[in-house]
Amino acid sequence: MNQTDVVIIGAGHNGLTCAAYLAMAGLRVKVVERRNVVGGAAVTEEFHPGFRNSVAAYTVSLLNPQIVSDLKLAGHGLQIVERRAQNFLPSPDGSYLLTGEGRTRKSLAKLSARDAEKIDAFNHQLEEIADVLRAFVLRAPPNVTQGFGPGAIGEAINALGTANILRRLSLEQQRSLLDLFTRSAGEMLDEVFESDLVKALFGFDAVVGNYASPYAAGSAYVMLHHAFGEVNGKKGVWGHAIGGMGAITKAMARAASLHGVEIALQAGVREVIVERDRAVGVILDDGETIRARYVASSVNPKLLYTRLVPSSALPGEFVARIKHWRNGSGTFRMNVALSALPSFTALPGPGDHLTAGIILGPSLGYMDRAWQDARERGWSREPIVEVLIPSTLDDTLCPPGQHVASLFCQHVAPELPGGRSWDDHREEVADLMIATVDKYAPGFGESVIGRQILSPLDLERQFGLLGGDIFHGALTLNQLFSARPMLGHADYRGPLRGLYHCGSGAHPGGGVTGAPGHNAARVILRDHRALFG
Ligand SMILES: Cc1cc2nc3c(=O)[nH]c(=O)nc-3n(C[C@H](O)[C@H](O)[C@H](O)COP(=O)(O)OP(=O)(O)OC[C@H]3O[C@@H](n4cnc5c(N)ncnc54)[C@H](O)[C@@H]3O)c2cc1C
Repeated sequence: MNQTDVVIIGAGHNGLTCAAYLAMAGLRVKVVERRNVVGGAAVTEEFHPGFRNSVAAYTVSLLNPQIVSDLKLAGHGLQIVERRAQNFLPSPDGSYLLTGEGRTRKSLAKLSARDAEKIDAFNHQLEEIADVLRAFVLRAPPNVTQGFGPGAIGEAINALGTANILRRLSLEQQRSLLDLFTRSAGEMLDEVFESDLVKALFGFDAVVGNYASPYAAGSAYVMLHHAFGEVNGKKGVWGHAIGGMGAITKAMARAASLHGVEIALQAGVREVIVERDRAVGVILDDGETIRARYVASSVNPKLLYTRLVPSSALPGEFVARIKHWRNGSGTFRMNVALSALPSFTALPGPGDHLTAGIILGPSLGYMDRAWQDARERGWSREPIVEVLIPSTLDDTLCPPGQHVASLFCQHVAPELPGGRSWDDHREEVADLMIATVDKYAPGFGESVIGRQILSPLDLERQFGLLGGDIFHGALTLNQLFSARPMLGHADYRGPLRGLYHCGSGAHPGGGVTGAPGHNAARVILRDHRALFG
């Protein structure tokens, strides 16, 4: 009999994190992964002969420092370096904004003296609220319970802890928190700044993975979600994992294996076995059965409950709600092999700006139009593209003198209107993305010697990201915090005993954080100790 304590569905970074913590606490853990590599959306692969890159997720900040330390990821080979400049935003009119330590104010002053006076206060306000998020990242949000029992008492204590964190905020900070959770980023940015490029800098974070206008209510939260990270102790900074994002998940897999975790690749789960209202194991695609005391799933909750758990085993109202779980990011991802570095008209030649996240999307109006266009036509004719050239910081990715770049493109429709398939439009849209970069850096198109294209449909097929949703479900207020993945299940426990959520569909949501995996492990261990002492 193939029997273990915990079987984890999916070897993405959260499945691996959860596995490592459980094994460190002495449980026997088996991770089963559908693909032939570990890492989920955080992987490095060769996409063109001699050229490797992070295939999907491409930049680090949100990865929790506690997890890096507990799993001793540095000892397992993880090295994260800072970008030499944080962001570069060229404008078609030849102006640009270059941000980073000691640069932002000076660069912004050339665009608007008024905005340069305001930027530090705005960053400070964002940082204060990001600190609140940081305090919540590694703890389960208060969970809504029915009736009165031991669970209700535990949740009351958790709610008090939450209230205590919020109480530390001044009234004015609580107002900012409310704004950031509910308002549109566009409205808030228009109130503070006048320069298009600085608004686009923050506006980009509000539309990344969020198929919405920067003027949509709730987009300010997505902006905040991208601000709670840090690199090597520096808050709000983004960096690069040497060897690409796969270096993070390889280090996690090593940490987990060291503690006895078994990882099976090409081991997709066909079904979660349910007996007497309890999840007791999984059946793999090849028919193999693995029985376990606990089943933890790191896949998108809608995928879990509409494809892997028999719906007859679930409460009807739960199934009805999870069917409406909102997926769909509006992102199109490319990796390109380059014969030479691009040269931008706004700031020609090499320089630190080529290590930055280069945002092509020069105003909030442009971003709003990109979304409107994508809704109508399936993709924006003037898309927003972030270009990142990791080979400027990392010589392990491609031959010397050549480069690799990630293109993270928004907005495209998760599903094309008129019943059209992404399979018929992938190449045409990829050409458009390259032409878009070419407008800002003439000659870029000619330097592309290889390319990998991932439409929303490809992201779903390759990684199990339904609708291409990079976060395993939209980061909207009704799908966040105590409502992620559903009110009553924010404590990482599913609607069946023995079934847990350890992926990005649980609090605090998407991004390479490791937090859902960490938090789910804590709950599984608590339940295990309650049962077995
Ligand atoms: C294009 C793109 C760009 C992104 N950019 C960034 C970025 O730069 N920085 C950042 O922090 N975040 C980024 N993200 C978000 C981040 O990558 C994800 O939120 C995160 O990696 C999800 O991790 P996870 O472990 O929760 O799930 P996943 O990484 O999705 O892992 C789930 C695993 O489950 C496996 N699986 C699916 N079905 C089954 C099955 N039936 N049986 C067994 N296994 C199964 C999958 O193959 C996968 O390995 C990006 C995501 C995408 C897609």
